[in-house]
Amino acid sequence: MTFLPRVTTCALIVSSLFSAAAASDEYHRQHDAHQHGIVEFNIAQDGQDLLLEITAPGADVVGFEHPPTSEQQQQAVERAIEELKQATELFAFTASAKCQLTEAFITENLITHDSHAGHDHEEHDHDSHHEHATHGGFSAQYAFHCADIKQLKDLQVSWFKHFPSTEKIAIQAITETSQKAEQLTPTSTLFKF
Ligand SMILES: [Zn+2]
Repeated sequence: MTFLPRVTTCALIVSSLFSAAAASDEYHRQHDAHQHGIVEFNIAQDGQDLLLEITAPGADVVGFEHPPTSEQQQQAVERAIEELKQATELFAFTASAKCQLTEAFITENLITHDSHAGHDHEEHDHDSHHEHATHGGFSAQYAFHCADIKQLKDLQVSWFKHFPSTEKIAIQAITETSQKAEQLTPTSTLFKF
């Protein structure tokens, strides 16, 4: 049962590495903001392990961001979670680095998101609420063990084929030898470390 502690470690490492952008973090906390069409990949090296955290708007993954209101939407969420678990279909590290997926942990906050349904009639305000209140999304954390991590050169991303609503992927990566931020698009899908 090393699954949860490992993933927690992953999240801690990733978030501590990237908390440098404190102002932007603050913004995220307050507004829970995301931009539709933009998915974030944060990658961190930890010895021979690579930790990858993906944050994606619900709009990109299932086309809605509220709790599912039909059987069809419920199934779409379940399918998306299964799809996100298939990390090797979504991206591939340099083959010679021999990275193997050791863990995948997917969460979503569409269903658990604070719903306004209960007090809709009293507080619903189109100007201030509707923009942020129902923005749910998906979060995926992966851990890879790379037998020959020195060979790691790039990451080929196939995300756009699976989730065509995504227009850009903002990648931030910190390894022992480099620190890089770059945006990928459907026509530019190779990230170089
Ligand atoms: Zn949204």
